[in-house]
Amino acid sequence: MPTFVNPEKCDGCKALDRPACHYICPNDLMTLDVALGRAYNREPDLCWECYSCVKTCPQGAIAMRGYGDVVPLGASLQPLRGTDSIMWTLRYRNGQMKRFKFPIRTTAWGSTDPFGGMSQPDAADLKSASLCGDERYLGVPALPTLAKA
Ligand code: SF4
Ligand code: SF4
Repeated sequence: MPTFVNPEKCDGCKALDRPACHYICPNDLMTLDVALGRAYNREPDLCWECYSCVKTCPQGAIAMRGYGDVVPLGASLQPLRGTDSIMWTLRYRNGQMKRFKFPIRTTAWGSTDPFGGMSQPDAADLKSASLCGDERYLGVPALPTLAKA
């Protein structure tokens, strides 16, 4: 189910250079129409359907366009993200509505250790042929390298 922006709800993230949906989209699909001050999905066919944009939009302006064989016309699914949970509102085309609430965090804000006990990476590591933590997970002090002739 690709996503689309409801221009009546979108405020263009108040004219930020990179609106939240633009910043978060892993496929670089969300973009801002500068003249209109509204975002749009420029290539719905390429949408990964990850819904990162849907969940991050502060205005709740992004929705999923359901495939006709799964979601009947007129039905909709909309998330509302809180600090520790996300509420999905499902509206059926007959007006019936259901809500599902799920936790989105298992750790307190700011308590995550991004390096998980490993040293902080250095920009020079980008030139290394090994992956982060190779030696540690292979249980060797250093990876073998080809000797130069
Ligand atoms: S994140 Fe929401 S409000 Fe901000 S530009 Fe995108 S669709 Fe509009
Ligand atoms: S659902 Fe994911 S891939 Fe699709 S536009 Fe939103 S952020 Fe991008």
